[in-house]
Amino acid sequence: MAEIIDGKLVSAEVRKSILSSVTEFKEENGFVPGLAVILVGDNPASAVYVRNKHKACLEVGMNSYEITFDKNVSEDVLLAKIDELNQDEKVNGILVQLPLPEHISEEKVINRISPDKDVDAFHPVNVGKILIGNYDFLPCTPAGIMELLKFYNVDIKGKECVVIGRSNIVGKPMALLLLGENGTVTVCHSKTKDLKEVTKRADILVVAIGRANFVTKDMVKEGCVVIDVGINRLENGKLCGDVAFDEVSSVADKITPVPGGVGPMTITMLLKNTLTAAKKQIKK
Ligand code: NDP
Repeated sequence: MAEIIDGKLVSAEVRKSILSSVTEFKEENGFVPGLAVILVGDNPASAVYVRNKHKACLEVGMNSYEITFDKNVSEDVLLAKIDELNQDEKVNGILVQLPLPEHISEEKVINRISPDKDVDAFHPVNVGKILIGNYDFLPCTPAGIMELLKFYNVDIKGKECVVIGRSNIVGKPMALLLLGENGTVTVCHSKTKDLKEVTKRADILVVAIGRANFVTKDMVKEGCVVIDVGINRLENGKLCGDVAFDEVSSVADKITPVPGGVGPMTITMLLKNTLTAAKKQIKK
């Protein structure tokens, strides 16, 4: 049976170290880092994410500012709020919870956040920096996965790494980070021919598709490290990942569960990015 990669455990460890860094930061600078999170509309899942981010900030001693807008808010009003937060010295990181209502351009909104406060690392400036390997922030989910691999001593160098999914938020940056650690990386997507033939080669398989139990035992090589990013809700209300956990864990060497694997790391990396942003802004 595979070893379980315990995201809750790693997340708690990383948060402990963030808490002590925040304490040190406060002693040196007389204030604590602050994160502003903007929520537009009443999407219940988004509201839960925002609440969890708020709680996590308080847990590590940071300030959290929650700004909510009605779903009909105009794009101009939202952009003006971002301008205000860009100038606000108490705010070191800004995050706009996605998705946004259709009448608001996500691209415009992301591009309006100052790259120095872009703790999601979605701004084109930060994306470009990641591409050339000289970055300040990493997108939270792939960064969290790298922490998990490090914690469980998974060596990436020279390994066959396969990423399923090519989103800007998970798949693409994940592939770049694995490449940066000298993995031999293949990225698969919905047009990939004979997916199983590719995934069977993987020493490290990262799955970020959004389809319940998609990756089955026959797609995975014996001894593979399997990272399941997917969050899917089944008809019975239970959460599950993109990987058929029970059967794949009988062949994998290590595997992340859903929930309790990648998920807890994502917010933790957001806290880390906010601290990094605050330190960087102090130096300016
Ligand atoms: P997107 O919908 O943006 O991307 C999904 C990707 O999967 C696309 O690249 C798509 O290919 C690919 N794909 C879809 N179907 C197949 C298929 N049959 N075979 C191969 N590839 C396929 O999703 P995200 O990257 O935003 O999220 C992926 C999952 O991860 C979701 O379940 C999401 O909820 C979860 N997630 C979890 C987080 C966490 O903190 N744990 C954070 C972020 C996301 P194509 O490009 O060709 O369409």
